[in-house]
Amino acid sequence: MSSVLEQMSSAVSNAPAVLQKMKRNTGCRMIGFFHPVIPEELIYAAGIHPVRLFPYFDDSITLADSQLQTFLCSYLRAEWDQIVKGKYPYLDGAIIPRSCEAVTFLYQTWRRHNPYQFIDYINVPWKRSENAISFFAKELGRVKRDLEKFTGREISKDSLSSAIEVYNRNRELLKKVHDLRKSKPPFISGLQAYHVVMSSFVLDKREHNGLLEQLLTELSRRPQSLKAEVRLLLSGGCVIDSRLWGMIESGRAMIVADDVNNGSRTFWHFVEDRTNDPLEALAKRYATVPCGFNTSIADRFKYISEMITEYEANGVIFAINKNCESEKFVYPELDKKVKDKLHVPTLNIETDYLIDMAPLRTRVEAFVESLKV
Ligand code: SF4
Repeated sequence: MSSVLEQMSSAVSNAPAVLQKMKRNTGCRMIGFFHPVIPEELIYAAGIHPVRLFPYFDDSITLADSQLQTFLCSYLRAEWDQIVKGKYPYLDGAIIPRSCEAVTFLYQTWRRHNPYQFIDYINVPWKRSENAISFFAKELGRVKRDLEKFTGREISKDSLSSAIEVYNRNRELLKKVHDLRKSKPPFISGLQAYHVVMSSFVLDKREHNGLLEQLLTELSRRPQSLKAEVRLLLSGGCVIDSRLWGMIESGRAMIVADDVNNGSRTFWHFVEDRTNDPLEALAKRYATVPCGFNTSIADRFKYISEMITEYEANGVIFAINKNCESEKFVYPELDKKVKDKLHVPTLNIETDYLIDMAPLRTRVEAFVESLKV
């Protein structure tokens, strides 16, 4: 493994310590958020460090169930459990989107218990009409004013444009790394790509851009040593358990592309036309993030089918959390389309917080063996 990949993997595994150290050294404020539909550039332009919220896989859920409905996704309940237990002392607040059912529900609970100074909500539209974009841009204007009130300083048009620049560069570099998975064999495994993307949710974006540039240089010099007899696409909501990525790739298969909230959906689209109205440019970009909760089945299928074709995937694994309604509603139709129109075999596995990997391993191995390549 290259040293840059090691640094990225370590930032993900030790995220609380990394963030705590950053807070100590820079004194910066930090705002947590869920899902790739929150325009992080707004937070960044306010001089605040945005932190994507995911639970750490180290503790059972003991406190959250008295405050949140137990039918909600366990990743989200684990996240709230860890917040209630004070495991994120570096956070100063959060912005919660209207997104999946679990996160949308969490907003009321968060407000009631309000563990930090700042809390806000963004009504993310699930349509992409002109009206919806105009509404979303106004919504972003309101959040911008809320952030300005919180920090006591204006978010200028220049600082917003510069934040967009930094984020677009991050997307461009992440896409270049993602594209290295097209080759046969890929230059980078799915698990390594997972760490590359997940580390962008922890580290400062400018620092991450520097690491990505180094990584691309390192990878271009490294001989291809990976094996990928079977090429898979991984699809789901938040597929955040690294053990799952490692388990899928422990045999003949490699994840060469993904369609998950903590993967390609985060960086696939760029912010365009930002010269006139950066808020409108952000609204247009963030309304098109292809998550299950805000994308039609037709658009989801278009996204996934282009990915399957371009990255030459032999099979698709849908890995969906037991209570992830937004993915489960779409899955049957999407699965049918992948099989009927693309003739690509699929497997559906149910994930959960701290799930035992052994039964899943048996099913994944059988699926991989069944793929004739
Ligand atoms: S896994 Fe699904 S339900 Fe859980 S937080 Fe992610 S999108 Fe929401």
